[in-house]
Amino acid sequence: MTKRNVRDLTEQEARGKRALVRADFNIPLDDNREITDDTRIRAALPTIELLHKLGARIVLLSHLGRPKGKPDLRYSLLPVANRLAELTGRKVCFVESTDTDEALQATRALEDGEMLLLENTRFLGGEETNDPRLARALAELGDFFVNDAFGAAHRAHASTAGVAEHLRPAVAGLLMQTELDYLGGALDEPERPFVAILGGSKISGKIDVIEKLLPKVDALLIGGAMACTFYRAMGLETGKSLVEEDRVAMAKDLLARAGTRITLPHDATVARSIEDAKSAHDVPREGIPRDEAMFDIGPRSAASFARAIASARTVIWNGPMGVSETPPFDAGTLAVALAMAHATKGGATTIVGGGDSAAACAKAGLDKRMSHVSTGGGASLEFLEGKPLPGVEALDAAR
Ligand code: ADP
Ligand code: MG
Repeated sequence: MTKRNVRDLTEQEARGKRALVRADFNIPLDDNREITDDTRIRAALPTIELLHKLGARIVLLSHLGRPKGKPDLRYSLLPVANRLAELTGRKVCFVESTDTDEALQATRALEDGEMLLLENTRFLGGEETNDPRLARALAELGDFFVNDAFGAAHRAHASTAGVAEHLRPAVAGLLMQTELDYLGGALDEPERPFVAILGGSKISGKIDVIEKLLPKVDALLIGGAMACTFYRAMGLETGKSLVEEDRVAMAKDLLARAGTRITLPHDATVARSIEDAKSAHDVPREGIPRDEAMFDIGPRSAASFARAIASARTVIWNGPMGVSETPPFDAGTLAVALAMAHATKGGATTIVGGGDSAAACAKAGLDKRMSHVSTGGGASLEFLEGKPLPGVEALDAAR
């Protein structure tokens, strides 16, 4: 169902009011608590700027990392408050206290045009259990609710879903809306040919996506270690490759049903171990040595995947084609990313979902050349599986 978004708010609903904004500032930090990638903070800026323009007073909420329901300085949002001030050129008040009464005082002291960031929602005991008492207390912190945290929308937590039960209007932010438009558009009305590429380590984590996409796509290209479970189902030798023995039967069944719509790599880059890059060589899929493992799709497959992508009008990609963290096993992943970048230029809609695939695109400097790179790995996967996202379900229906 289409949801109301922040663009649909009237002046009257927003001006001088406290906008409680759930953002996704779950960014990576190094050991000195320096931000190593601020993509998610930048992604929240359009919503923040729009709310400023509407004259709202902005109260930001987010989680960061996995503190266990109590304050843990390693996961403080203070570095985010500082970066947000740099990026917006505006003052950002930071409320260190996790006492919701103190937070309430701070939101009441906000003036027009000001913004504040509250400390990590996962410092609060009831966040992950979606405690209704916490949800009600959070709802007190705003006059209306904006959920822009797509990356956390698949979790029914107090700050994502619970709070919306007590606070209206409850609307989607611009980032949330963009994510839903791209992912939903691909599922519901893809321009054809529609090609999906799936990879990563485990077929078990992607089985629901395969099932959901299979009837919709023109071609489903499979790489990553996942391909090896299919190889086993085909009766091929897979050597020391990562195979999920308990999913072989399922892979066999999928192949029987998919006909020619599933494409598996015809060749593989194999090696004795990931560390032993010098032993890497390419073999046809029938020739995987017993004492070696497949760590990437081979060059012939990379070229044929690239051709399939070049002929598509809609491309959706989740999961690297190989051990993309470790060259030379990143070649297949880079070939897919590059083919998608070219396809974008040719007018195709290209969408990347999945944390490791997005990281590979960014590392290759190709992220800006995709139509859309999702900010939510787990959330995009659940969306593609056709599961309702609690953080989205909780919002107002579009009028
Ligand atoms: P994403 O985060 O994009 O959804 P996944 O988390 O499902 O992707 O999978 C990424 C992981 O899969 C990476 O750590 C990568 O090293 C691993 N991987 C991919 N191909 C292989 C392979 N052939 N053998 C072992 N690991 C692999
Ligand atoms: Mg991952």
